[in-house]
Amino acid sequence: MPEVIIADEAGACYGVERALRLVSEAAEGTGGAIHTLGPLIHNPSVVSSLEERGVTVVFDPAVEAGSTLVLRTHGVTPQVEQAARNAGATVLDATCPFVKRAHRAAERLEREGYQVIVVGERGHPEVEGTVGHAPTSTVVTSARELDSLELSRKVGVVVQTTQSKDNLRAVVSALVGRVDELLVVDTICEATAGHQEACARLARAVDAMVVIGGRNSANTTHLADIARTHCPATHHIETPDELEAAWLVGAERIGITAGASTPASQIEEVRRAICELMEG
Ligand code: SF4
Repeated sequence: MPEVIIADEAGACYGVERALRLVSEAAEGTGGAIHTLGPLIHNPSVVSSLEERGVTVVFDPAVEAGSTLVLRTHGVTPQVEQAARNAGATVLDATCPFVKRAHRAAERLEREGYQVIVVGERGHPEVEGTVGHAPTSTVVTSARELDSLELSRKVGVVVQTTQSKDNLRAVVSALVGRVDELLVVDTICEATAGHQEACARLARAVDAMVVIGGRNSANTTHLADIARTHCPATHHIETPDELEAAWLVGAERIGITAGASTPASQIEEVRRAICELMEG
């Protein structure tokens, strides 16, 4: 009988679980309307089930007075949060505590006179939020971008939580020798690295891999890429009904992993669906 194995670390991370819990609790309350500023997580089926419970997605923080605006795990700039408060809304802050740590670090470095460098993906909501907390900071995606940057004597570095350690190391190495004082706050979240390592380990040991998560989720797409380098028969799905029996033909061991926005219940649904397909 073929074996279905779930990666040691897969699916919703601490920050996503926390955000889902906060919103579920708010939805059960008797207060006014609840809005999330952008989709709460990159998982269309979770977002639509929240909609069924009256939690709607908005893109403007100035929601109606008396309603609740949920800030998602990526965090926002202080200006965005203030706009919601000015409009008379209650702010439910679901920003992941690890992202908050990056915000606080950037703020502190700027206050202490460091030129702040944020290592991350320019334009990503999390990076925009961090920059909002240290408005003089500069975003660099790689060490190469430092070549054209004028550096001050004191430089402080913070990192987007989902960046790789290798990229941070490259940026830090490129700064050593170019500045008098360098202070690095490693704000990388271990959940991302843990998911990626577990995914690679499993993909090397199986005949087919199924990666679950939104197609608009960068961390899920990255997991699928990692899996594919070790196991060419890798398939990225959002829901169990996308599974195809043909993918499993001849496979003795099938691996499952899932992005940080995939709750455990969705992983279990896919595991069951794979077992049914194999039995059928
Ligand atoms: S991946 Fe890490 S930083 Fe991002 S939401 Fe999850 S726990 Fe927080």
